[in-house]
Amino acid sequence: MPHSPFRLLSPARVRLGVQAAYALFLLYAGWRFFLYVRWAMGESEDFVPKPPSVEGFLPISALIAFKRLLFTGQWDPVHPAGLSIFIAVLGMALLLRKGFCGYICPVGFVSSLLARLGTRLGIARRTGPRAARLLSLPKYLLLAQFAWISVVSMDVESIEGFLLSPYNFVADTRMLQFFLAPSNTAITVFAVLGVGSLVLPYFWCRVLCPYGALLSLLARLSPVAVRRDPATCVDCGRCTHACPAALPVQRLERVSSGECMGCAECIAACPVKDCLSVTLPGKRRLPAWSIAAGCVLVLLAVWGVAQALGIWDSPLPQSMARRFHMMLRIGMITH
Ligand code: SF4
Ligand code: SF4
Repeated sequence: MPHSPFRLLSPARVRLGVQAAYALFLLYAGWRFFLYVRWAMGESEDFVPKPPSVEGFLPISALIAFKRLLFTGQWDPVHPAGLSIFIAVLGMALLLRKGFCGYICPVGFVSSLLARLGTRLGIARRTGPRAARLLSLPKYLLLAQFAWISVVSMDVESIEGFLLSPYNFVADTRMLQFFLAPSNTAITVFAVLGVGSLVLPYFWCRVLCPYGALLSLLARLSPVAVRRDPATCVDCGRCTHACPAALPVQRLERVSSGECMGCAECIAACPVKDCLSVTLPGKRRLPAWSIAAGCVLVLLAVWGVAQALGIWDSPLPQSMARRFHMMLRIGMITH
């Protein structure tokens, strides 16, 4: 019987392939967005449509728009794709644990490359489960702070004022400018995070990312989980050692932690066939690549539905975009 192509691919290769493909897509979208911004700022007369996918880099704006959606039933007209992507990512966490962090997020991708490099250089350090839990506290505190400032303390009126403000309108352009011309402070912070990720794998994701903290909370509800068969386990500890989230896999029957990214590296490391597997409730087994495939499918499905419902491209006129970008160019939009 012919092998499925997926059986020839290790979980690490599947993961690297999905991460690299999405990173390439983002680079292409980033280039198109750069051309759009040049037009919008009056630096070029060649109009290039804005790629809506760049709005995925505005999770706080999307979080605020999500509250408005819940209270008013209205979709955000300024960054509609950002809200669609945000809901897709929440859905992904509910269904597929932190698959977004493991397969889609570009920061997760860079973190995984740095983790490999740190391991090769021999400077990567593992933490025990207790230390890992303590290290994850800051990101929950940051999440609580963001949630308080941008959601809890804002009523619908102030949310609408923010969403329709010139500042929010050009928030993605300001994000691009930030990455194209980072300040010395930003470069220093990036350098610290980079070195930190070599020593403590996934430093940003595990310690500081408030988006990841939100997904961790939702991922606890996910029906999909890695399960260990204690009857066949030889207690070698390879799974625990391989886990980038520092989870004590060898001591768990079901990995229910919200930190699990579904990366399947524990499954790949296990020497006993079928001792570890991705499972649904009732212990029904799924292929190791199912979380990767599920994440891609969720993204594609939400993109298709958003296109069909007209909540992907902004309905606001391009003349408005250009006017706000001109305001940004002459320094009229600073906060
Ligand atoms: S438990 Fe397994 S699937 Fe979950 S993060 Fe750790 S290695 Fe990846
Ligand atoms: S790698 Fe497999 S056999 Fe070894 S401790 Fe983990 S589950 Fe058990």
